[in-house]
Amino acid sequence: MYKIVIQKFGGTSVEDARAMARSIAIVRERGITRRTRPLVVLSACAGVTNALIKTSELSLKENPREALTSIDQLEARHARTARELLEEEPLVRDVQQALRAIWEELRTLVRGINLLRELTPKRRDQMQSAGERASSLIFHAALARELGSSREVHLFDAREFFITSNEFTSARPMQTEIAKRMKKIRSSLAKGAMGVTQGFIGSTLTGETTTIGRGGSDFSAAIMGVATEADSIQIWTDVAGIMTCDPRVATAARSIERISFREASELAFFGAKVLHPETIWPAVEKEIPVLVLSSKEPEKPGTEIVETTEKDRSMTGLAIKRAIILVRIAGQSGQPDAAVQQIVWGALAESGALPLAVSLSVDSASFAFADTAVIPLLRAACEGLAGIDVQTERALITLVGPGLHSQSGIAARIFRALGRTANCEMISYGGSESAISFVVHDDVASRVAKRLHAEFFE
Ligand code: ADP
Ligand code: ASP
Ligand code: MG
Repeated sequence: MYKIVIQKFGGTSVEDARAMARSIAIVRERGITRRTRPLVVLSACAGVTNALIKTSELSLKENPREALTSIDQLEARHARTARELLEEEPLVRDVQQALRAIWEELRTLVRGINLLRELTPKRRDQMQSAGERASSLIFHAALARELGSSREVHLFDAREFFITSNEFTSARPMQTEIAKRMKKIRSSLAKGAMGVTQGFIGSTLTGETTTIGRGGSDFSAAIMGVATEADSIQIWTDVAGIMTCDPRVATAARSIERISFREASELAFFGAKVLHPETIWPAVEKEIPVLVLSSKEPEKPGTEIVETTEKDRSMTGLAIKRAIILVRIAGQSGQPDAAVQQIVWGALAESGALPLAVSLSVDSASFAFADTAVIPLLRAACEGLAGIDVQTERALITLVGPGLHSQSGIAARIFRALGRTANCEMISYGGSESAISFVVHDDVASRVAKRLHAEFFE
């Protein structure tokens, strides 16, 4: 009996024929072993989900021409990838034909949306699901060809087993139902077969296509890992693991070899986009190891996410979250003002919005939000009772480390790194034992992050 390894490949790992070929080599080397068989979970090719969302919106225009052109472009891109990767006829033709059915379905959808001038979340999900369906079709054909006819490689449609709630565009997976429906997949892999399927997409109990939220393929991989009692979950991306900082911001960032679930989710929560935070939870419960690896440099060890790590590590990493909205609410008395706090917490409870950072003083409170949705509610709640000041174009920078609070002089080092040019507009310290967050203007965020990285990690 074979153990199952979940191998999730993100958008850049399947962006074109070259990337797919690299990822297929990884499946052969790291998925198919003496003891294991892979279930490959795929994202759409890089940029495709964005393009599909744009296409949905263009369908609402009076003339759907632009939306249809965008589908033509997607069709051409995937046809090229299939041709370059598969090379031989009749395989190329067969795959291109199967792809064509997807694009035809989208064209019908565009016309429907255009005619009704209505874009429901349900229609959005039908449109968005095309990316993963298309990438998995090509990948499956190429993997099956590589392995030859003696090996069984199945393409599983996630919509047949990845059952979710009907909250279209952010549906919640139904773990028990998924486990039940994945039994067959599990036993076929245990006997030696291989599987390819889609992340991000699923369906309701009544068979309507859903998606589980942007970047959701990591979450899909974790849920599928739990459902199949996988041996491990490999998240293949374009960086060699979770790093001390987004390498696009600080080029000196380095991979963190081992990270606890808590540190990883804290980094993710505060903006280290490499991993979808929810990925972590289902796997934690079942103690399934999660590895984050680079499909461009597969020989690098990447990051292993474990339950706990050595407690005394003071600094784990630095996260940056852009497009933050800083809200300051101030009472009008200059006295301790319970009303201000009641307004704020009442409005937050009503909206369900969670601030990423909070700072309180005698009669005022500052909050950092990732989303503008809560602002009108707060404005309404403040009317006549408190002043409200809203600043956009802010960034939240967070230092994460389990031993952070037991170290002296951290705050001084942070302020030194901020220097004279960057104004710290808010600081949140003590909310958790292991994070310090502060807000700066977005213009200086990269510079500040680089300096802090140099101070604490280089
Ligand atoms: P995928 O398409 O494979 O899911 P993502 O784009 O979602 O990949 O995530 C990988 C990207 O996350 C990297 O290219 C990197 O720029 C970014 N990133 C942000 N913070 C970090 C971090 N702390 N460590 C590694 N990568 C990070
Ligand atoms: N393709 C989806 C997205 O771009 C899901 C994912 O890649 O995780 O959001
Ligand atoms: Mg991702």
